[in-house]
Amino acid sequence: MSDFDFDLFVIGAGSGGVRASRVAASHGARVAVAEEHRVGGTCVIRGCVPKKLLVYGAHFAEDIHDARKFGWDVSDCKFHWDVLRDNVLAEVDRLEGLYGQTLDNHKVTVLRTRATIVGPQRVRLADGQEVTAERILVATGGWPHVPDFPGSEHAITSNEVFHLDALPNRVVIAGGGYIANEFAGIFNEFGSKVTIVNRGDTILRGYDEQIRDRLLQISMTKGIEFRFNAPFRSIDKNPDGSLTVHLENCDPIPADAVLIAAGRVPNTRGIGLQEVGVELDAQGAVKVDETNQSSVSSIYAVGDVTNRIQLTPVAIREGQAFADSVFGGKPTVVDYANVPSAVFSHPPIGAVGMTEAEARNKLGAVRIYTSDFRAMKNVLAGRNERALYKMVVNAATDQVVGLHMIGPDAPEILQAAAIAVKAGLTKADFDATVALHPSMAEELVLLK
Ligand code: NDP
Repeated sequence: MSDFDFDLFVIGAGSGGVRASRVAASHGARVAVAEEHRVGGTCVIRGCVPKKLLVYGAHFAEDIHDARKFGWDVSDCKFHWDVLRDNVLAEVDRLEGLYGQTLDNHKVTVLRTRATIVGPQRVRLADGQEVTAERILVATGGWPHVPDFPGSEHAITSNEVFHLDALPNRVVIAGGGYIANEFAGIFNEFGSKVTIVNRGDTILRGYDEQIRDRLLQISMTKGIEFRFNAPFRSIDKNPDGSLTVHLENCDPIPADAVLIAAGRVPNTRGIGLQEVGVELDAQGAVKVDETNQSSVSSIYAVGDVTNRIQLTPVAIREGQAFADSVFGGKPTVVDYANVPSAVFSHPPIGAVGMTEAEARNKLGAVRIYTSDFRAMKNVLAGRNERALYKMVVNAATDQVVGLHMIGPDAPEILQAAAIAVKAGLTKADFDATVALHPSMAEELVLLK
């Protein structure tokens, strides 16, 4: 038995922290986890999970519309934001309960309080009590970045968007990334007038250009407006409660809500990291090596607070690898190659591996295959919305090095196809697979 109160003290019960806590405990470690907000973290409480439920809710707008072409007599359909909001929040409560139960079942001590590091092996809780641990894991995640401009206090972020009292008639969304495009789709389907305002001239930087262009084109066709090269200047609150957004290079935009989606910053402020010698990078993220160890040997970090790849499944992998390596005698290093990702826009995007531009830069000779098609369901519905699948192949080896898709269910299809890319399969292997007909996914084995 060590002299420490715990073998591991985890700060933050989000995706990475919960996984690390319960796996370390299952390896026999005495674990405590401190959480100042709610168990589950961003993904479960104010991110992936409630967002995906809103995406489902929003897509009914198109499904109900299209159903008429499929013979359904759909009349008098009305959307009630408060019903969806409350059901989604109830589901979040249920999941939070399950996360808490999992920790209890693994005999992890859950401290619902803020914890600050006061020594390499010592933390202080909000009530002043100090606790020692042989190792500390920082899994505090990230927090929405709100640029500094007059009136920014009138805007909301993804933290508040799930709790809106009423659906705004007009929404201005700042940013052109994941959250901006996902919520633009959600609000637009619910009938709000949506304007995306971005400081640059591109959406979804990092995704393949053709796929981004397709989303932009479809979004504009659906009625979403875009303003590019238009940094925010200020937001005024008007006497009637509405807002006016002032931008560089653009006319002011009236709005009922402004959502800031300008990236997320690592949650490292005020938790004592630098005071005990933990090095942070220029963005404020904890610098860690491939074993998730910081510059202080007893302090580790996983997930968004390390700003490697800000995705839940990556944080979970990192938490698992940390616990297996340190407490399970199974040294594990996370492999960051070919991590699939998705944007749950309308329609959604799925991608894995190199974009065409990256492949051309890195490999030189590449072959590109695309399928630009209208999903069968969209054809009958009279919906003029085309899917685009794109395969990037290393010309020297025939290996598929990238898959990029936009269209109905693209993330579902991409997850399975990502196995083939991760396994290093070739275009010939895809071609050798018989098509499953009729499906959208069959396009992947029919690319010419
Ligand atoms: P993103 O990094 O996706 O996009 C940020 C956007 O804000 C970019 O368009 C960026 O422009 C712009 N921006 C950045 N800084 C500023 C600034 N100071 N002023 C004005 N605009 C700025 O961030 P999100 O907030 O959309 O999402 C945060 C993270 O959460 C994502 O990176 C992602 O990892 C994760 N996430 C993942 C989802 C998924 O997997 N489906 C869904 C939602 C979030 P520019 O391009 O010029 O840099």
